[in-house]
Amino acid sequence: MKSKRLCPICEMSEVDFLRSQKFELPAGHPLASGYDVVVCDQCGFVFADTVVTQADYDKFYAQYSKYEDAKTGTGGVDNPFDWKRQQETARQIADFLQNPKASILDVGCANGGLLKALRETGYMSLCGLDPSPVCVNHVLDLGIEARQGSLFQPFHESAYDCVVLSHTLEHVADAHGALDWIEKRLKPNGVVYLETPDASRYVDFIYAPFQDFNTEHINHFSLIGLENLVGAHGFWLAEGGQKDLTIGADMFYPAVFGFWKKADLPTATILKKDKNLRLKIEKYIARSQQIMNDIDLNIANLLSRNRSIIVWGTGQLSMKLLSETSLAHADILAFVDNNPINHGELLRNIPIVTPDALDGFDAPILITTLLHHKAIAEQIKRMNLKNEIVFLDE
Ligand SMILES: [Zn+2]
Repeated sequence: MKSKRLCPICEMSEVDFLRSQKFELPAGHPLASGYDVVVCDQCGFVFADTVVTQADYDKFYAQYSKYEDAKTGTGGVDNPFDWKRQQETARQIADFLQNPKASILDVGCANGGLLKALRETGYMSLCGLDPSPVCVNHVLDLGIEARQGSLFQPFHESAYDCVVLSHTLEHVADAHGALDWIEKRLKPNGVVYLETPDASRYVDFIYAPFQDFNTEHINHFSLIGLENLVGAHGFWLAEGGQKDLTIGADMFYPAVFGFWKKADLPTATILKKDKNLRLKIEKYIARSQQIMNDIDLNIANLLSRNRSIIVWGTGQLSMKLLSETSLAHADILAFVDNNPINHGELLRNIPIVTPDALDGFDAPILITTLLHHKAIAEQIKRMNLKNEIVFLDE
């Protein structure tokens, strides 16, 4: 079939369909309420065939950044696992550059966790760029230069020895445009550090079904995908590979990374077909669907016993459950979320409220996350609420 969005790597439109992903989005949300996940016939890259433009994504990240809340978002410094991960990445970059005088630009810097960790390894010439003004202020509060902006907007030319995009490129609609932009920011002999989730290993690290098919991740890189993208711009891979990020106690997340340098002479790059990725993603889809079916049985069971429920959690999994399971037809009294960025939003025309607003609601609470459900159950008990607590996987 023909895709609506060209393959972000090889720019062809002949693709095979893998899955239709749907989301129930809060009212006024600028992103699409679904897309097909497809695989490119030519290069084997897997991507979301979405018509949402780069401009829409820029607007989204400026206004809706979940990373603004330093306590619940990633890319910050307040979560100990996140901080350890940032320190490891900073150590990797420092070991590669071997020059504390090098200037580093972190694009999509969120709350500045990586920049802070880089400063602790001795790097002082640092700058963060992020579309969210709240994130920029968090970085400035650390005493580190930061600007509001994004890829595709004008910025210092030929100014940096190293440009970092850590868990940013999977969010970008125009990946080649991103590379053009990066190139213009680099000094001669500059280095690009890229790190993204490793789509070839999603299946080995499933904590929630289809967690990587979310509203924000629209490119699914393996190391081959990254090499094909960056190679097309005349860079060569100096060092790269896979890594497992620690995201919780005994919880890991697969990533790929690489350091690229510009070749002295223009080189003809040969597009390499990723033959492995499609199979791995198909396995991931099958396994995720099994988990989703089990969850659906639990929700149907809960709804057969209760007329109305409260839903705690409005994140990526909730948005899928609301469109793909029995939850789609449930009588939901209220949505609850800890992240202040969500409060006051409407999901299915029902307001998202703070935990405090739950007092007096007499209905079971369904916790719609598989990552933080135990901590939320503890929180509910501490609040002395007597509501029945239901997990998705019990
Ligand atoms: Zn392709």
